[in-house]
Amino acid sequence: MRICIAGAGITGCAAAMLLAEAGHDVTVFEAVPEVSELGVGINLLPHAISILDRLGLADQLEDLGVATAELVYTNRHGQRIWGEPRGRFAGYPVPQVSIHRGKLQVALFKAARARLGADKVQTGHRLVAVDDRSPVSATFERPDGSRVTVEADVLVGADGIHSTLRRLRYPDEGLPRYGGRILWRATSRAKPFMTGASMIMAGHQDRKFVCYPIDRPGADGLQTINWIAELTVDQMPERENWNKEGDKADFAGAFADWTFDWLDVPGLIADADKVFEFPLVDRDPLPAWTFGVTTLLGDAAHPMYPIGSNGASQGILDADALVRALAEHADPAAALRAYEAERLPATAKIVLANRGNGPEICMQLAEERAPDGFARIEDVFAEGELEAIAARYKAVAGFSKEAVAAKVGLQPA
Ligand SMILES: Cc1cc2nc3c(=O)[nH]c(=O)nc-3n(C[C@H](O)[C@H](O)[C@H](O)COP(=O)(O)OP(=O)(O)OC[C@H]3O[C@@H](n4cnc5c(N)ncnc54)[C@H](O)[C@@H]3O)c2cc1C
Repeated sequence: MRICIAGAGITGCAAAMLLAEAGHDVTVFEAVPEVSELGVGINLLPHAISILDRLGLADQLEDLGVATAELVYTNRHGQRIWGEPRGRFAGYPVPQVSIHRGKLQVALFKAARARLGADKVQTGHRLVAVDDRSPVSATFERPDGSRVTVEADVLVGADGIHSTLRRLRYPDEGLPRYGGRILWRATSRAKPFMTGASMIMAGHQDRKFVCYPIDRPGADGLQTINWIAELTVDQMPERENWNKEGDKADFAGAFADWTFDWLDVPGLIADADKVFEFPLVDRDPLPAWTFGVTTLLGDAAHPMYPIGSNGASQGILDADALVRALAEHADPAAALRAYEAERLPATAKIVLANRGNGPEICMQLAEERAPDGFARIEDVFAEGELEAIAARYKAVAGFSKEAVAAKVGLQPA
């Protein structure tokens, strides 16, 4: 089938390679004239890595980032609430990878160009209009204002949180929904903490600090640590923009005394050159993604709070489901409906679970039950309560060990 994808972000590139691998004739059109290393850290969960592994990319991505060893939740005093091994360290057949989002984006973009051919992955082409007659035709605008119209059997909108295809289908939807918190995101060079491959989340829903390394220590013994400082802020300052620079003065004071014996939060904040400010936003789950032979994928379909490391991972799962649906149904419209039936309800559950803080609810409960800290975690949580919170979210996000093992055709270790 001739498949046209709008957007060469992480999910657009992954979908393009998987669809081409399955024998489809794929063309990708990306709005920006040049794909560069934008963003800070991002995580790929084992089920997404297992799909990229089929493209032979998992080792390269692990090399560019860090195989995350564990996830640890602490209260705002730095006391451990819950911790669990992650990826291979938890017996999954593939790792969880923490990586610079820009490096991941550029690696996938280059791989897509190398596999499909440069003429099949074009930059500087923004989707602006769709004609739904069959076959569908999509019109793209170049930076000089000229336009090109392309015919395809299937059109996929992988064009992010401000998706044009989504807006064409839901013209009255408006801006993303603000979740009442601002995230300041940055990287700093610092000494490894805990295992040197640990991801930590400290605090509670109104004041939270997340950090994890995204590379291995250099000759100076330092690593690049990705961090996110998050505060409740009633009013959304302005429309979200991944590249908006923030001001440390707006949040550093709230973390001034967060010096733990295992992590120096004020030091990390002070050492960052540049901070990006992003409001916590998502969109309500949609009733439908598929209209005829067009559909949505990744953030265009289900933008969600960056909780539980799901943003990029769920889009890669979408791509895998789309390939399977197209293999199972000769009629493209039927295939897209089957794809939607599998992925829309699954991702809607995660959007909603993330609004309730997902697995991070344990931090909020610890704050409510023991705001001044605790001598023993057993005094704060009932037996089995923490395990149940973690297991429930993994099941919702689809990365129980059994599910991932089944994807790569293995028994869980
Ligand atoms: C610049 C940038 C920086 C980011 N930084 C981070 C980060 O630091 N941490 C994090 O967790 N997440 C970050 N994200 C979000 C993260 O990449 C996504 O949540 C996740 O990877 C899902 O990716 P996606 O490919 O569906 O969407 P996106 O990554 O948003 O990619 C969508 C792509 O579509 C293109 N596009 C938009 N409109 C059109 C159109 N009309 N026609 C054609 N192409 C179009 C965009 O230029 C973009 O390349 C960032 C996203 C962007 C765009």
